[in-house]
Amino acid sequence: MSTAVALGIPAAPAAVLAPRRQTRQLRVGSVGVGSDHPISVQSMTTTKTHDVNATLQQIAELTAAGCDIVRVACPRQEDADALATIARKSQIPVIADIHFQPRYIFAAIDAGCAAVRVNPGNIKEFDGRVGEVAKAAAAAGIPIRIGVNAGSLDKRMLEKYGKATPEALVESALWEASLFEEHGFGDIKISVKHNDPVIMVEAYRQLAAACDYPLHLGVTEAGPAFQGTIKSAVAFGALLSEGIGDTIRVSLSAPPAEEIKVGSQILQSLNLRPRKLEIVSCPSCGRAQVDVYTLADQVTAGLEGMEVPLRVAVMGCVVNGPGEAREADLGVASGNGKGQIFVKGEVIKTVPEHLIVETLIEEALRLAEQMGTGEGTGGPVVEVG
Ligand code: SF4
Repeated sequence: MSTAVALGIPAAPAAVLAPRRQTRQLRVGSVGVGSDHPISVQSMTTTKTHDVNATLQQIAELTAAGCDIVRVACPRQEDADALATIARKSQIPVIADIHFQPRYIFAAIDAGCAAVRVNPGNIKEFDGRVGEVAKAAAAAGIPIRIGVNAGSLDKRMLEKYGKATPEALVESALWEASLFEEHGFGDIKISVKHNDPVIMVEAYRQLAAACDYPLHLGVTEAGPAFQGTIKSAVAFGALLSEGIGDTIRVSLSAPPAEEIKVGSQILQSLNLRPRKLEIVSCPSCGRAQVDVYTLADQVTAGLEGMEVPLRVAVMGCVVNGPGEAREADLGVASGNGKGQIFVKGEVIKTVPEHLIVETLIEEALRLAEQMGTGEGTGGPVVEVG
């Protein structure tokens, strides 16, 4: 006898920890930024921007990894000259990242970039140029990110506060925003980055309370992949769980596509983006009857890139194994050289240990196909039994 089991995306929106902080809305090219829009994930290219082919190649890789918005550096005239081609050929909106030279702001706007990031702390005589920048950005219909960074804080703030405190970061950002507002320009988003998550979180909390600008979250210079991932997850998690944050960039000393993976996973973990593949695997212990690490690694590798929300449980023994495996879309509870394979709470078969991985992958692909076609009512259905 077969049993119809509903699978897939829940009908109701997944629970989140807090409602989004209400902000004004912006458009960065095709991507909406603000509380009416999903939280976007950004990264920044590491190529020389003037190497157009290499930069476009990296943007294509980032796009494939799920990047929503990409930023490119513009330190020299030859980089500014490359912006028009990059902006035109990129599949995702391109933001020009401008430090030091105000003239590149205008070049980026003329080149058709979807937004410009300015660092008020190091652009020469920036306050005096805000009117011109506001006028050019308004004419082009693009927003400006005021990107304050602890490492390049406006020296007036450094003199006033002694160091890059949360108050100093926030005051610098809001001061620049007020200059734009004086010129009638309000399409602004703000970042106040610091490498210390505690200072960063406090700065964003203060900023969130003081304005309605969309906020770009970032822990600057977060470090190599492991440390940077932890710092970003902790800091973004604190803020996002309070509803703060509209676009995020994880900064890692690692290939930029890694930043996208981490950023996407942070959002998925908090139900701020639909979950895709989720492996629920136990840490193993003295009761384990299979090599859980290898099993989990092999299943993860075999299912990499899966685009449907599938929860796969890989459990080492019968203590929590059947319970977790039952709760997942698909799972295995191992013991005595065998694995019980569960699909949506039902044991569909028992296989010898050496067939666990291939059976799980086979079943996952079968479920994914059914979920992808959305068979049945209220979500995809799998026939079990
Ligand atoms: S499921 Fe079994 S092996 Fe895994 S941690 Fe729990 S008790 Fe240990």
